[in-house]
Amino acid sequence: MHLYELSIHEAGRLLKNGDITSEQLTGAVLERIEQKEAKIDAYLTVCADQAMRQAKAADQIIARGEASPLTGIPLAIKDLICTQGIRTTCASAILENFVPPFNATIMEKLNFQHAVMVGKTNMDEFAMGSSNEHSAFKPTRNPWDLSRIPGGSSGGSAAAVAADMCIGAIGSDTGGSIRQPASHCSVTGLKPTYGRVSRFGLVAFASSLDQIGPVTKDVTDTAILLNAIAGYDPRDSTSVPKETPDYTRALEKGLKGFKVGIPREYFETEGVDPSVLACVEKAITTICELGAERVEISLPRSRYGVAAYYVIAPCEASSNLARYDGVKYGYRAPEQSDIIGMYRATRSKGFGAEVKRRIIIGTYCLSSGYYDAYYRKASQVRTLITEDYRNAFKSCDVILAPVAPTPPFKIGEKVDDPLTMYLSDIFTLSVNLAGIPGISVPCGFSPDSLPVGLQILGNHFCEEKILKVAYNYQQATEFHRQKPVF
Ligand code: GLN
Repeated sequence: MHLYELSIHEAGRLLKNGDITSEQLTGAVLERIEQKEAKIDAYLTVCADQAMRQAKAADQIIARGEASPLTGIPLAIKDLICTQGIRTTCASAILENFVPPFNATIMEKLNFQHAVMVGKTNMDEFAMGSSNEHSAFKPTRNPWDLSRIPGGSSGGSAAAVAADMCIGAIGSDTGGSIRQPASHCSVTGLKPTYGRVSRFGLVAFASSLDQIGPVTKDVTDTAILLNAIAGYDPRDSTSVPKETPDYTRALEKGLKGFKVGIPREYFETEGVDPSVLACVEKAITTICELGAERVEISLPRSRYGVAAYYVIAPCEASSNLARYDGVKYGYRAPEQSDIIGMYRATRSKGFGAEVKRRIIIGTYCLSSGYYDAYYRKASQVRTLITEDYRNAFKSCDVILAPVAPTPPFKIGEKVDDPLTMYLSDIFTLSVNLAGIPGISVPCGFSPDSLPVGLQILGNHFCEEKILKVAYNYQQATEFHRQKPVF
C-alpha cells in the first residue's frame, strides 16, 4: 500500500507509533499530486513548501507525544475558505488574486491540531453549480471516468480524495455541494446541521443554507474531521452554542431498534436513473439486514424544494455578492472614468455566466413588488418542508434516500441547460432548506461502473445517528474501499 492511499485514522495510527513521519506522508501526497493532477485538475493552488514546513513542525509535536488525531495529516481545503497568506479565489476571476489577511475559524481549528494543508481545491464559481464546470479557471474531471464531471460544487475536494491526492478534505454544502460530489466520486461526505460548524471565514454564497463539512475516505475519518471543526464560534452569529460530542463514539456496531425512514416520494420521482434506485434499494436492504427496521414515510412538500431553493439561494447570493465592487478587494476593471462605469465593468468581467444569472434572478425576486410573490413565498414553502422532516422524524431515526438522480454525467452535457443542471440537486437541497444534517456514502456502481451514493439524513444535531448508520453500512460493504484506475 502506498502512503497516499491511507485514511486519516490509518495514517494517524502510523504517525503516532512512529512507523512513518508526516514529512514522508506529506511528501508522498505531494508526489502523487505531481503525477496525477494534470489528469484531474482538482487543485487551484498547491502549497508544497508550506505543507512540508507544516509536516516538519507536526513531526516535532508527535515526537513530544502531543499529537491530536489530525496532527501531520495532509488535507485539501475548498478554495472558498479563507486561508491567511494563501490565495482564496472561490474559482472566480473577481477574486483571482485575493490573499486573505486572516484565517477562517475552521482553519484555526485545523491548525490547532497541526494538520497539514496541501492545497486549495477547485470548485464551481462561488459554489454555484453541480458539476465543477462553472469554475472560472478549469473543470475538474472525475477520477472514475475522466470524461465525466466529479459533481459540484466541492468537486475538487471530492476528486482529490478519490484520487488519493490528499488524505482528507474540506468542502461546503449549500444545496448538496458536499454530498453530490461525494456520491459521484465514491467518497464519504457530510453536511452537518446548520450552525454546527462555524462559517466565519467561509466566503458567503447563501448564508442561511451554507455549511462547511468533511469529505473523506470513510466514515471514521468523517467523525474525526467533524470533531476537529464543529463547535460554537462567537464570530459566527449563526453558530449554535451547543456542546460538541465526541463523534467517534457514535461509531459502534449494531443497528438493532434503529428505524430507517424511506420517503415514498423520492422513489417515485420522474427521471431517476434505474441503476441509482437499484443501488439505493440494495443499500436499504443491507441496512435492514444489520438490524434496522424499515418504515415508510412521506415528505409531501419536498417536490417544491427545487423551486424554493432556486429563489432563496439566488436572493441571498445577490445580496452577498454586492460586496464585489472593485473597491474593497479583488479585481477592478481598468480605465473607467466614473464609479458606476467601474462597477459595471468590474462585475461584468469579474463574474461568470452562472453567477450573473443568480445575481439577476435574486435581485429581481427581492425587488419591490416582487418580494412577497417570490422571496416571502419561497420562505413559507421552506417552513413547510422543514415541517415535513419534523413529522417524519417522529417515526424514524434516520431517512435513507438517493443523493443524485443519475450517476456522474459527461462534461459539457448539461452546462448550457441550467434547469436540467438544477434538477440534479433534487434530493439534496431540501436538506439545506430544513437545516438538517446529511451524509453521502458510496453504495455501488452503475452497469457502466460509475459511482452511486446513498444519502442518510438525521434530525437537527443528530449527526451521531447518521454516522452510526453509515459506519455500520461501511463495515458491511466494500464500496468505499474501491479505488479508481486512471
Ligand atoms: N448545486 C447547487 C447550486 O448550484 C448547490 C450548490 C452548493 O451546495 N454550494 O446552488
